[in-house]
Amino acid sequence: MERNLDLRYVVIGAGMSGILAAIRLREAGYRNVTLLEKAQTVGGTWRENRYPGLNCDVPAHAYTYSFAPNAEWSSYLAPGHEIQDYFERVTADYSLRDIAHFGQEVESCVYADGVWRIATKAGMACEADIVITATGVLHHPRMPDIDGLGDFAGTIAHSARWDETTPLDGRRIGVVGNGSTGVQLVSALGGRAGKLSHFQRSPQWIMPVLNEPYDEEQRDAFRRDPALIDAIRYDPQYLANVLRFTEGIIKPDSEEMQIIEAMVLGYLEQGVIDPVLREKLRPDYRAACKRLIFSPDYYQVVQQHDVDIVVGGIDRIEPEGIRTRDGVLHELDLIILATGFHSDRFIRPAVVTGRRGVALDDVWRKHATAYNAISLPDFPNFLFLNGPTGPVGNFSLIDVAERQWGYVEQLLDKVATGECDEISVSADAMTRYEEARIAAAKGTIFASGCSSWYLGKDGVPMTWPWSYGRFAEVMAQPDFDDFEMVKAEVTA
Ligand code: NAP
Repeated sequence: MERNLDLRYVVIGAGMSGILAAIRLREAGYRNVTLLEKAQTVGGTWRENRYPGLNCDVPAHAYTYSFAPNAEWSSYLAPGHEIQDYFERVTADYSLRDIAHFGQEVESCVYADGVWRIATKAGMACEADIVITATGVLHHPRMPDIDGLGDFAGTIAHSARWDETTPLDGRRIGVVGNGSTGVQLVSALGGRAGKLSHFQRSPQWIMPVLNEPYDEEQRDAFRRDPALIDAIRYDPQYLANVLRFTEGIIKPDSEEMQIIEAMVLGYLEQGVIDPVLREKLRPDYRAACKRLIFSPDYYQVVQQHDVDIVVGGIDRIEPEGIRTRDGVLHELDLIILATGFHSDRFIRPAVVTGRRGVALDDVWRKHATAYNAISLPDFPNFLFLNGPTGPVGNFSLIDVAERQWGYVEQLLDKVATGECDEISVSADAMTRYEEARIAAAKGTIFASGCSSWYLGKDGVPMTWPWSYGRFAEVMAQPDFDDFEMVKAEVTA
């Protein structure tokens, strides 16, 4: 059936999933696609994060769009700046700058009379028939609630607000937080800092990983033979690990999770020689309860004489450094706050108002959610990529977004072909989804007794709680019985 190619699309966010949406919409022939981005360029989390040691712990060849393989990665796990360059290049290859508007943070998005009206803080206004919300998850830095943050006389910065000109060599550096970010920072700064102190509130399980560089000969081979890239992307060993991991998440007592536990425990026992340090690094919760940390060298680095793991809690920050609860003042020149992100905001603080004035903030008062991570009742033609309750873990979010796009595209077709003017999940289906999701989420490893950014305010994981196979199946074919499709005159 013929599609209306004049539908007006607004894609919010020019990170990994927004770029994907914009490319796919233009490839489908839509003439009216606008890409709004709050920052001055594309890249999302890879633009925001530029801290020393940043890399992606998902194999580089698996962390690329399936339609844009990249022979140029310098190593098995790519450094952050290469990933940023990759997104810039893809943006250029698909001429997305023609439709992108930078410095345009969306302030409000209001639905009335069958139209979404979008306003940005910088004063831009536009209308859309369909909004694709691709705002990402980890982009509102979370400052820790530590007394005296403003009193420090040296340099203090959140890891996602890193100034690349900050001097590092020979300085006394404190890193607060030991999620993936803090661990990567410490790995990179060990040996460069004069003295490095890693302030650890809760220990982390570490999964060892090899990060081999690709040499020019290998890259040349990738250029000449894309099958070599596919062999890495679809490496059965890697895919088996992903499957094991995703099965383990949803079945905490499974053999898969026991294998993961044995791997991280073995690494701690054998990788850390000093028994006192080993006990400092031993978590008291289950592996993968927090996002697993993959590191080729963290344990090696923290065993160097100029690196300290500081436990026992931070009392406050003073002009000279960080005072811990045992009364010790750790004198520092630089403090890096690797304290994570407000992961429940998604498109907020933008004010989003759906049918009959329903406010997104009210719908998400308890926690952010969306049916199959894609759609909400009362928000017609408003679809998420990498939205709330999608799969999260140690696997490629690009694969997640591409599968989600396959689903979104089928919803859009209903509108584009004129079968309906508005599509959104029905209230009933949303309720069923959320009840089943919460019940399943409570049984996942994420709910097994630790704090993490996966948990909502109510302590329930905000994640996809079923297998990756089920996610792939659900994304392959929407159940249209769960959707309300309206041929609308005026519905506001
Ligand atoms: P995070 O995992 O949320 O970790 C925040 C850290 O800060 C935790 O260790 C936390 O301690 C600590 N913290 C927070 N407030 C504190 C306070 N007041 N005092 C002391 N410590 C405090 O954040 P992240 O490391 O930035 O990582 C976030 C996510 O980004 C990752 O899970 C991952 O999804 C993504 N990421 C991915 C990569 C990659 O290679 N693919 C790299 C970096 C980040 P507690 O554990 O005790 O709460």
